[in-house]
Amino acid sequence: MGIEVNFEGKVALITGASSGLGARFAKVLAMAGAQVVLAARRMDRLKELRAEIEAEGGAAHVVALDVTDYASIKAAVAHAETEAGPIDILVNNAGVSSSQRLIDVTPEDYAYVMDTNQRGAFFVAQEVARRMILRYKGDPRKQHRIINIASLAALRVVPQLGLYCMSKAAVVHMTKSMALEWGQFGINVNAICPGYIGTEINLDYFDSEQGRQLLATLPRRRLGKPEDLDGLLLLLAAEESHLLNGTIVNADDGLGVA
Ligand code: NAD
Repeated sequence: MGIEVNFEGKVALITGASSGLGARFAKVLAMAGAQVVLAARRMDRLKELRAEIEAEGGAAHVVALDVTDYASIKAAVAHAETEAGPIDILVNNAGVSSSQRLIDVTPEDYAYVMDTNQRGAFFVAQEVARRMILRYKGDPRKQHRIINIASLAALRVVPQLGLYCMSKAAVVHMTKSMALEWGQFGINVNAICPGYIGTEINLDYFDSEQGRQLLATLPRRRLGKPEDLDGLLLLLAAEESHLLNGTIVNADDGLGVA
């Protein structure tokens, strides 16, 4: 006897799929049988990833998406559903970071971080959820999933990252509000709060002396890898996780309790 989590017949939209965690999330869901729609601004990167997934027997589509542009969000979600069919799973992952003291934040810094991490994540989820709700016919077996990628920085304040922390704290509260409002329509909305994971967003930093010093203070003195989130992603996306709604899961290698 065995139990297998299978995503065949499911369509998953992954934002910010052109690198890092988003690219890995897309690969994992494709390996588990889902048709994945890769969405971001860098189409050349998305096409490379699509080729990689197809070479391994998976099914992938690409759509252009700038989450800071409302018209682009609406067009990308419509395009995704035309290409792949109704979206069952959204991985709301696109994000940016910037580092400075709060006292030095400019209106441009503020817009850069908030328009992507907060406003962008909100309107992507809203556009996908509107379509999920329209399709909902009261069938409890019809399940939808939204997985918001927040951060450990949403839950604890990190020096020089106050603006980023604020944007991700909003994602956590957004997740709970969406779970409360949309759960009745068969949509489970949960968030992942990763700790430090080596990707383009922080590679330069962890190559610096300051970054190396920070690593030495972590409970396990190590940087996570994108694939370290595979199990958690599959758990939150799976139909078997019916009762997980409004849950905020730390995936931080123990840093949050230190
Ligand atoms: P990354 O820079 O490799 O990936 C971010 C992705 O978002 C990129 O593909 C980028 O092109 C995309 N993106 C940015 N602005 C966009 C826009 N306007 N429209 C569409 N796509 C856009 O970094 P990552 O580490 O893979 O980050 C993925 C998510 O995980 C982010 O939300 C980030 O805040 C979060 N996160 C990362 C870490 C970490 O340590 N790497 C920790 C906690 C949370």
